[in-house]
Amino acid sequence: MVTIAVDGPSGSGKSSVSKAVAARLGLAYLDTGAMYRAATLWCVRSGVALDDTGAVAAAVRDMPLAMGVDPAAPGILLDGDDVATAIRTTDVTAVVSKVATNLEVRDELRRRQRAIIADEADGGFSAGRGIVAEGRDITTVVAPDADARVLLVASEEARLRRRSLEVHGVADATSVEATRDQVLRRDRDDATVSTFHVAADGVVTVDSSDLDFEQTVEAVLTVVERAAV
Ligand code: C5P
Repeated sequence: MVTIAVDGPSGSGKSSVSKAVAARLGLAYLDTGAMYRAATLWCVRSGVALDDTGAVAAAVRDMPLAMGVDPAAPGILLDGDDVATAIRTTDVTAVVSKVATNLEVRDELRRRQRAIIADEADGGFSAGRGIVAEGRDITTVVAPDADARVLLVASEEARLRRRSLEVHGVADATSVEATRDQVLRRDRDDATVSTFHVAADGVVTVDSSDLDFEQTVEAVLTVVERAAV
């Protein structure tokens, strides 16, 4: 069983890179950001006011969420409903930090994340080979004892350009401007509860600003190899 933890800010490319690393190594893949997004959608659909921290925490504790961990098709079912697209709308992205900065929500989701990671040691999708888990607090809080820990960073400019291409299909000045809130303000809010701009002790930083996708995947695989897992 190998556990690989990847953290990074918005637009660092950690989801696509982590998925590719998991696929190459025959590991499961856990997108913890998707869990915070699903929690947000669950509260919105349940009519819970996101500022009501107690009600949000209670709703999330009852949330019927099933996370798929196949890196080729990581489905996500909320109360039996496939929400892979719904959790990535701008509406959810704009408010997810409100739910993710709720400390009781973090406790609950971290508990579920650790259970999913532990499942892969006993069998699971990877037949006991292990998992790549990515987010904001995996290297520091969820799996600080992971075999390999990577902080994936990129310049502000690179992150804005990538997110703009992802959301708008182009990276002209207007589109980049429109993604500022989704990237920079969200990172500021998220950074109040997690440390993902500076690597913690034992965590290796990979800067993807000047790397293409394949080079970034290779850089992360090198960290994993050096960790001799
Ligand atoms: O990675 P992604 O952009 O999908 O994450 C969505 C949100 O989930 C982040 O903006 C952050 O608020 C929250 N998150 C978190 N801790 C994690 C992963 C994501 O707080 N481990």
